[in-house]
Amino acid sequence: MVEFCPECHNMLRKKLMDGKPSLACRCGYHQNIVRDELEVQNDIQKKKDALKNNLIVVSADDKISVHPIVPKDCPKCKNDKAEAWQEQTRSADEPSTSFFRCTKCKHTFREY
Ligand SMILES: [Zn+2]
Ligand SMILES: [Zn+2]
Repeated sequence: MVEFCPECHNMLRKKLMDGKPSLACRCGYHQNIVRDELEVQNDIQKKKDALKNNLIVVSADDKISVHPIVPKDCPKCKNDKAEAWQEQTRSADEPSTSFFRCTKCKHTFREY
């Protein structure tokens, strides 16, 4: 990426200024690349945080179990209660599959 000086429109050269990579012009104008990249990173981080916050709200809702607990034998630990829900498989004309998650060992199994 070639940057031009906003003052005199000469090409900026990469140069170390105070140990930081900068773009400098012979007219004395210079900009700090690192600072700019950090600003970009900050922007990205802010967007990520905003996204994450939204996702946290969404996933918090997700994590609240809305599945009813039904009497169901767990094939793994023989617990007799499991969360139950149904999921539609690939095509709409196939019957939906019942899923169960053991309330004790969290083993998930299904019934056709
Ligand atoms: Zn210049
Ligand atoms: Zn179990």
